[in-house]
Amino acid sequence: MIVCLRKGATRDEVGEVIRRAESAGCRAIVTEGSEAIVVSLIGDTRRVDESLFRGCDSVEKTIRISKPWKLAARAMEPAGRVIHVGDVGIGDGRIAIMAGPCSIEGMDSLLPLAEACRAAGAQILRGGAYKPRTSPYAFQGLGREGIRCLVEARRRTGMPVVTEATGSHRHRSPDGAPEERSVLEEVVSNADILQIGTRNMKSYGFLEVAARATAARRMPVLLKRGEAASIEEFLLAAEYILLNGNPDVILCLRGIRSGEAGRHLRYDPDIAAIPVLKRETHLPVVFDPSHATGDRRYVRSIALAAAAAGADGLLIEVHDRPEEAWSDAGQAIRPEALGEIVRAARAIEAARGA
Ligand code: PEP
Ligand code: MN
Repeated sequence: MIVCLRKGATRDEVGEVIRRAESAGCRAIVTEGSEAIVVSLIGDTRRVDESLFRGCDSVEKTIRISKPWKLAARAMEPAGRVIHVGDVGIGDGRIAIMAGPCSIEGMDSLLPLAEACRAAGAQILRGGAYKPRTSPYAFQGLGREGIRCLVEARRRTGMPVVTEATGSHRHRSPDGAPEERSVLEEVVSNADILQIGTRNMKSYGFLEVAARATAARRMPVLLKRGEAASIEEFLLAAEYILLNGNPDVILCLRGIRSGEAGRHLRYDPDIAAIPVLKRETHLPVVFDPSHATGDRRYVRSIALAAAAAGADGLLIEVHDRPEEAWSDAGQAIRPEALGEIVRAARAIEAARGA
Protein backbone atom coordinates (compact mmCIF):
# COMPACT_ATOMS: atom_id res chain seq x y z
CA MET A 1 0.00 0.00 0.00
CA ILE A 2 1.23 3.50 -0.71
CA VAL A 3 0.09 6.67 0.97
CA CYS A 4 0.35 9.80 -1.18
CA LEU A 5 0.91 13.05 0.68
CA ARG A 6 0.57 16.46 -0.87
CA LYS A 7 3.78 18.14 -1.97
CA GLY A 8 5.07 20.36 0.77
CA ALA A 9 3.81 18.14 3.61
CA THR A 10 5.79 19.02 6.72
CA ARG A 11 8.25 16.78 8.48
CA ASP A 12 5.74 16.34 11.31
CA GLU A 13 2.98 15.36 8.91
CA VAL A 14 5.21 12.77 7.23
CA GLY A 15 6.28 11.56 10.69
CA GLU A 16 2.66 11.07 11.70
CA VAL A 17 1.98 8.89 8.64
CA ILE A 18 5.10 6.83 9.38
CA ARG A 19 4.01 6.41 13.01
CA ARG A 20 0.57 5.15 11.98
CA ALA A 21 2.10 2.75 9.43
CA GLU A 22 4.44 1.36 12.05
CA SER A 23 1.61 1.01 14.54
CA ALA A 24 0.04 -1.36 12.00
CA GLY A 25 3.21 -3.48 12.03
CA CYS A 26 4.59 -2.16 8.71
CA ARG A 27 7.90 -0.63 7.71
CA ALA A 28 7.51 2.79 6.10
CA ILE A 29 9.66 4.03 3.24
CA VAL A 30 9.46 7.67 2.24
CA THR A 31 10.06 8.68 -1.36
CA GLU A 32 10.05 12.28 -2.45
CA GLY A 33 8.89 12.74 -6.02
CA SER A 34 8.51 15.91 -8.04
CA GLU A 35 4.75 16.02 -7.44
CA ALA A 36 4.15 14.33 -4.11
CA ILE A 37 5.68 12.60 -1.15
CA VAL A 38 4.86 8.92 -0.97
CA VAL A 39 5.03 6.73 2.10
CA SER A 40 5.14 3.05 1.14
CA LEU A 41 4.04 0.44 3.63
CA ILE A 42 6.15 -2.69 3.53
CA GLY A 43 4.95 -5.83 5.26
CA ASP A 44 1.63 -7.60 5.46
CA THR A 45 -0.65 -4.78 4.37
CA ARG A 46 -3.68 -6.96 3.67
CA ARG A 47 -5.10 -6.23 7.09
CA VAL A 48 -4.20 -2.55 7.10
CA ASP A 49 -7.37 -0.52 6.74
CA GLU A 50 -7.09 2.62 4.68
CA SER A 51 -9.04 4.47 7.39
CA LEU A 52 -5.81 4.30 9.41
CA PHE A 53 -4.78 7.54 7.72
CA ARG A 54 -8.09 9.32 8.12
CA GLY A 55 -7.60 12.61 9.87
CA CYS A 56 -4.14 13.16 8.40
CA ASP A 57 -4.65 16.40 6.47
CA SER A 58 -1.54 15.87 4.39
CA VAL A 59 -2.78 12.56 2.95
CA GLU A 60 -4.34 12.86 -0.49
CA LYS A 61 -5.01 9.20 -1.17
CA THR A 62 -3.98 5.64 -0.45
CA ILE A 63 -3.43 3.10 -3.22
CA ARG A 64 -3.13 -0.65 -2.96
CA ILE A 65 -0.54 -2.05 -5.33
CA SER A 66 -1.28 -5.57 -6.41
CA LYS A 67 1.84 -6.05 -8.56
CA PRO A 68 4.84 -7.87 -7.06
CA TRP A 69 6.93 -4.73 -7.47
CA LYS A 70 5.71 -2.02 -5.14
CA LEU A 71 8.26 0.76 -4.94
CA ALA A 72 8.96 0.42 -8.65
CA ALA A 73 5.26 0.74 -9.55
CA ARG A 74 4.20 3.62 -11.75
CA ALA A 75 1.68 4.72 -9.10
CA MET A 76 4.61 5.89 -7.00
CA GLU A 77 5.12 8.81 -9.39
CA PRO A 78 2.53 8.75 -12.15
CA ALA A 79 4.24 11.54 -14.08
CA GLY A 80 7.51 9.58 -14.14
CA ARG A 81 10.64 10.15 -12.11
CA VAL A 82 13.22 12.58 -13.42
CA ILE A 83 16.74 11.76 -12.25
CA HIS A 84 19.09 14.72 -12.32
CA VAL A 85 22.76 14.20 -13.00
CA GLY A 86 24.64 17.46 -13.41
CA ASP A 87 22.39 19.46 -15.71
CA VAL A 88 20.92 16.40 -17.45
CA GLY A 89 17.42 15.29 -16.47
CA ILE A 90 17.00 11.59 -17.24
CA GLY A 91 13.29 10.95 -17.70
CA ASP A 92 12.39 14.56 -18.51
CA GLY A 93 11.09 13.76 -21.99
CA ARG A 94 14.40 14.36 -23.75
CA ILE A 95 16.79 11.60 -24.78
CA ALA A 96 19.87 11.60 -22.55
CA ILE A 97 22.96 10.60 -24.48
CA MET A 98 25.57 8.55 -22.62
CA ALA A 99 28.57 7.53 -24.66
CA GLY A 100 32.19 6.48 -24.41
CA PRO A 101 34.43 3.45 -24.71
CA CYS A 102 33.60 0.00 -23.41
CA SER A 103 36.89 -0.07 -21.46
CA ILE A 104 39.00 2.87 -20.41
CA GLU A 105 42.36 2.33 -22.09
CA GLY A 106 44.43 5.14 -20.54
CA MET A 107 44.58 8.92 -20.24
CA ASP A 108 45.97 9.52 -23.74
CA SER A 109 43.12 7.71 -25.42
CA LEU A 110 40.25 8.64 -23.09
CA LEU A 111 40.70 12.41 -23.00
CA PRO A 112 40.45 13.08 -26.76
CA LEU A 113 37.72 10.48 -27.08
CA ALA A 114 35.69 12.13 -24.30
CA GLU A 115 36.04 15.50 -26.08
CA ALA A 116 34.96 13.93 -29.36
CA CYS A 117 31.92 12.32 -27.71
CA ARG A 118 30.93 15.63 -26.17
CA ALA A 119 31.31 17.40 -29.51
CA ALA A 120 29.08 14.71 -31.05
CA GLY A 121 26.34 15.46 -28.52
CA ALA A 122 27.06 13.14 -25.60
CA GLN A 123 25.95 14.53 -22.25
CA ILE A 124 27.26 11.79 -19.95
CA LEU A 125 30.55 9.93 -20.40
CA ARG A 126 30.64 6.17 -20.01
CA GLY A 127 33.72 3.98 -19.65
CA GLY A 128 34.59 0.82 -17.79
CA ALA A 129 37.47 0.70 -15.32
CA TYR A 130 36.34 -2.60 -13.82
CA LYS A 131 35.25 -4.98 -16.56
CA PRO A 132 33.13 -8.08 -16.06
CA ARG A 133 34.65 -10.45 -18.59
CA THR A 134 33.43 -13.90 -19.50
CA SER A 135 36.99 -15.19 -19.58
CA PRO A 136 39.27 -14.76 -16.58
CA TYR A 137 42.14 -14.44 -19.05
CA ALA A 138 40.63 -11.44 -20.83
CA PHE A 139 41.55 -7.83 -19.94
CA GLN A 140 39.84 -7.05 -16.64
CA GLY A 141 40.01 -3.25 -16.79
CA LEU A 142 42.59 -0.71 -15.64
CA GLY A 143 40.95 -0.51 -12.23
CA ARG A 144 41.86 2.48 -10.06
CA GLU A 145 43.99 3.92 -12.87
CA GLY A 146 40.94 3.83 -15.14
CA ILE A 147 38.91 5.67 -12.53
CA ARG A 148 41.63 8.33 -12.39
CA CYS A 149 41.34 8.78 -16.18
CA LEU A 150 37.57 9.07 -15.94
CA VAL A 151 37.75 11.70 -13.21
CA GLU A 152 40.20 13.71 -15.30
CA ALA A 153 37.95 13.39 -18.38
CA ARG A 154 35.06 14.76 -16.32
CA ARG A 155 37.19 17.66 -15.13
CA ARG A 156 38.17 18.53 -18.71
CA THR A 157 34.80 18.08 -20.40
CA GLY A 158 32.33 18.85 -17.62
CA MET A 159 30.43 15.65 -18.43
CA PRO A 160 29.19 13.53 -15.51
CA VAL A 161 30.48 9.96 -15.64
CA VAL A 162 28.90 6.53 -15.40
CA THR A 163 31.00 3.45 -14.70
CA GLU A 164 30.43 -0.09 -13.53
CA ALA A 165 31.11 -1.61 -10.13
CA THR A 166 31.49 -5.34 -10.68
CA GLY A 167 31.32 -6.21 -6.99
CA SER A 168 32.49 -5.28 -3.53
CA HIS A 169 35.73 -7.25 -3.83
CA ARG A 170 39.15 -5.67 -4.35
CA HIS A 171 40.42 -5.48 -7.93
CA ARG A 172 43.75 -7.07 -8.82
CA SER A 173 45.78 -6.25 -11.90
CA PRO A 174 47.32 -9.34 -13.55
CA ASP A 175 50.65 -8.89 -11.76
CA GLY A 176 49.71 -6.61 -8.90
CA ALA A 177 48.49 -6.61 -5.35
CA PRO A 178 44.83 -5.99 -4.61
CA GLU A 179 43.75 -2.35 -4.67
CA GLU A 180 43.40 -0.56 -1.36
CA ARG A 181 39.68 0.05 -1.66
CA SER A 182 36.94 -2.23 -2.92
CA VAL A 183 35.61 -1.80 -6.45
CA LEU A 184 32.33 -0.53 -5.03
CA GLU A 185 34.02 2.06 -2.80
CA GLU A 186 36.22 3.23 -5.64
CA VAL A 187 33.26 3.72 -7.98
CA VAL A 188 30.94 5.23 -5.40
CA SER A 189 33.49 7.77 -4.31
CA ASN A 190 34.34 8.88 -7.85
CA ALA A 191 31.48 8.37 -10.32
CA ASP A 192 28.25 10.30 -10.83
CA ILE A 193 26.19 7.20 -11.73
CA LEU A 194 26.99 3.67 -10.62
CA GLN A 195 26.40 1.02 -13.26
CA ILE A 196 25.40 -2.51 -12.31
CA GLY A 197 25.89 -4.86 -15.22
CA THR A 198 23.76 -7.56 -16.72
CA ARG A 199 25.68 -10.31 -14.90
CA ASN A 200 24.99 -8.76 -11.50
CA MET A 201 21.31 -8.02 -11.96
CA LYS A 202 20.51 -11.06 -9.87
CA SER A 203 23.30 -10.63 -7.29
CA TYR A 204 20.76 -9.57 -4.71
CA GLY A 205 23.23 -9.13 -1.86
CA PHE A 206 25.33 -6.85 -4.05
CA LEU A 207 22.25 -4.87 -5.12
CA GLU A 208 21.52 -4.21 -1.45
CA VAL A 209 25.06 -3.20 -0.57
CA ALA A 210 25.35 -1.01 -3.68
CA ALA A 211 21.97 0.59 -2.96
CA ARG A 212 22.99 1.61 0.55
CA ALA A 213 26.38 2.90 -0.53
CA THR A 214 24.89 5.04 -3.31
CA ALA A 215 21.85 6.19 -1.31
CA ALA A 216 24.18 7.74 1.25
CA ARG A 217 25.53 9.97 -1.55
CA ARG A 218 22.30 10.40 -3.48
CA MET A 219 24.00 8.76 -6.45
CA PRO A 220 21.78 7.20 -9.13
CA VAL A 221 22.22 3.57 -10.12
CA LEU A 222 22.03 2.46 -13.74
CA LEU A 223 20.79 -1.12 -13.57
CA LYS A 224 21.17 -3.26 -16.67
CA ARG A 225 18.65 -5.97 -17.46
CA GLY A 226 19.93 -9.50 -16.88
CA GLU A 227 20.58 -11.09 -20.25
CA ALA A 228 17.98 -13.78 -19.56
CA ALA A 229 15.76 -11.89 -17.11
CA SER A 230 12.05 -11.36 -17.60
CA ILE A 231 10.65 -7.85 -17.26
CA GLU A 232 9.21 -8.85 -13.89
CA GLU A 233 12.59 -10.09 -12.64
CA PHE A 234 14.14 -6.85 -13.88
CA LEU A 235 11.62 -4.74 -11.96
CA LEU A 236 12.11 -6.83 -8.84
CA ALA A 237 15.88 -6.35 -9.07
CA ALA A 238 15.23 -2.59 -9.19
CA GLU A 239 12.95 -3.07 -6.20
CA TYR A 240 15.92 -4.36 -4.14
CA ILE A 241 17.69 -1.06 -4.74
CA LEU A 242 14.61 1.06 -4.01
CA LEU A 243 13.89 -0.91 -0.85
CA ASN A 244 17.42 -0.31 0.36
CA GLY A 245 17.04 3.43 0.26
CA ASN A 246 17.96 4.59 -3.22
CA PRO A 247 14.96 5.88 -5.21
CA ASP A 248 17.09 6.87 -8.23
CA VAL A 249 17.28 3.79 -10.40
CA ILE A 250 17.75 4.13 -14.15
CA LEU A 251 16.71 0.94 -15.94
CA CYS A 252 18.89 -0.01 -18.89
CA LEU A 253 17.82 -2.48 -21.55
CA ARG A 254 20.75 -4.06 -23.38
CA GLY A 255 19.36 -7.02 -25.31
CA ILE A 256 18.42 -10.47 -24.10
CA ARG A 257 19.18 -14.04 -25.09
CA SER A 258 16.78 -15.57 -27.57
CA GLY A 259 17.01 -18.05 -30.41
CA GLU A 260 18.65 -15.29 -32.44
CA ALA A 261 21.19 -14.17 -29.86
CA GLY A 262 24.67 -15.31 -30.78
CA ARG A 263 23.72 -15.88 -34.42
CA HIS A 264 23.25 -12.71 -36.45
CA LEU A 265 23.18 -10.60 -33.32
CA ARG A 266 25.02 -10.76 -30.00
CA TYR A 267 21.72 -10.41 -28.14
CA ASP A 268 18.16 -9.74 -29.22
CA PRO A 269 17.31 -6.03 -28.90
CA ASP A 270 14.40 -5.85 -26.45
CA ILE A 271 12.78 -2.73 -27.87
CA ALA A 272 9.24 -3.78 -26.91
CA ALA A 273 10.25 -3.77 -23.25
CA ILE A 274 10.53 0.04 -23.45
CA PRO A 275 6.80 0.83 -23.65
CA VAL A 276 6.03 -2.01 -21.23
CA LEU A 277 8.41 -0.60 -18.64
CA LYS A 278 7.20 2.96 -19.23
CA ARG A 279 3.73 1.72 -18.41
CA GLU A 280 4.66 -0.37 -15.37
CA THR A 281 7.19 1.85 -13.65
CA HIS A 282 7.97 5.51 -13.05
CA LEU A 283 11.70 4.84 -13.37
CA PRO A 284 13.48 6.16 -16.46
CA VAL A 285 14.36 3.61 -19.14
CA VAL A 286 17.47 3.87 -21.28
CA PHE A 287 18.54 1.61 -24.11
CA ASP A 288 22.00 0.27 -24.98
CA PRO A 289 22.06 -0.60 -28.71
CA SER A 290 25.76 -1.53 -28.57
CA HIS A 291 25.49 -4.63 -26.40
CA ALA A 292 21.99 -5.35 -27.72
CA THR A 293 23.34 -5.91 -31.23
CA GLY A 294 27.06 -6.49 -30.74
CA ASP A 295 27.57 -5.16 -34.25
CA ARG A 296 28.35 -1.56 -35.16
CA ARG A 297 26.40 -1.90 -38.43
CA TYR A 298 23.14 -2.12 -36.48
CA VAL A 299 23.77 0.32 -33.65
CA ARG A 300 22.22 3.29 -35.46
CA SER A 301 18.97 1.65 -36.51
CA ILE A 302 18.38 0.04 -33.13
CA ALA A 303 19.28 3.23 -31.25
CA LEU A 304 16.71 5.13 -33.30
CA ALA A 305 14.11 2.39 -32.88
CA ALA A 306 14.60 2.69 -29.11
CA ALA A 307 14.23 6.46 -29.36
CA ALA A 308 11.00 6.04 -31.29
CA ALA A 309 9.73 3.50 -28.74
CA GLY A 310 10.08 6.06 -25.95
CA ALA A 311 13.53 5.52 -24.42
CA ASP A 312 14.64 8.21 -21.98
CA GLY A 313 18.24 7.78 -22.99
CA LEU A 314 20.79 5.89 -25.05
CA LEU A 315 24.01 4.29 -23.83
CA ILE A 316 26.39 3.86 -26.74
CA GLU A 317 29.94 2.51 -27.02
CA VAL A 318 32.25 4.78 -28.99
CA HIS A 319 35.93 4.47 -29.92
CA ASP A 320 38.13 6.52 -32.22
CA ARG A 321 39.67 3.35 -33.68
CA PRO A 322 36.84 0.88 -33.13
CA GLU A 323 38.66 -2.15 -34.56
CA GLU A 324 41.41 -1.70 -31.98
CA ALA A 325 39.20 -1.34 -28.88
CA TRP A 326 40.43 -3.48 -25.99
CA SER A 327 36.95 -4.90 -25.43
CA ASP A 328 33.75 -5.08 -27.48
CA ALA A 329 35.57 -3.92 -30.63
CA GLY A 330 32.86 -5.24 -32.95
CA GLN A 331 30.17 -2.95 -31.58
CA ALA A 332 32.05 0.32 -31.10
CA ILE A 333 31.19 3.20 -33.41
CA ARG A 334 33.22 6.29 -34.26
CA PRO A 335 32.42 9.68 -32.73
CA GLU A 336 31.16 10.94 -36.13
CA ALA A 337 28.64 8.09 -36.24
CA LEU A 338 27.53 9.05 -32.74
CA GLY A 339 26.93 12.60 -33.98
CA GLU A 340 24.65 11.27 -36.72
CA ILE A 341 22.69 9.18 -34.25
CA VAL A 342 22.28 12.14 -31.90
CA ARG A 343 20.98 14.37 -34.71
CA ALA A 344 18.42 11.78 -35.77
CA ALA A 345 17.45 11.02 -32.15
CA ARG A 346 16.77 14.71 -31.53
CA ALA A 347 14.40 14.77 -34.51
CA ILE A 348 12.59 11.71 -33.16
CA GLU A 349 12.44 13.33 -29.74
CA ALA A 350 10.76 16.38 -31.25
CA ALA A 351 8.23 14.20 -33.09
CA ARG A 352 7.54 12.16 -29.94
CA GLY A 353 6.82 15.26 -27.94
CA ALA A 354 4.21 16.39 -30.48
C1 PEP B 1 29.21 -2.54 -20.49
O1 PEP B 1 28.37 -1.62 -20.42
O2 PEP B 1 30.33 -2.40 -21.00
C2 PEP B 1 28.81 -3.90 -20.05
C3 PEP B 1 29.72 -4.78 -19.64
O3 PEP B 1 27.49 -4.11 -20.17
P1 PEP B 1 26.57 -5.40 -19.88
O4 PEP B 1 26.56 -5.54 -18.39
O5 PEP B 1 25.25 -4.97 -20.45
O6 PEP B 1 27.18 -6.56 -20.61
MN1 MN C 1 31.02 -3.28 -23.47
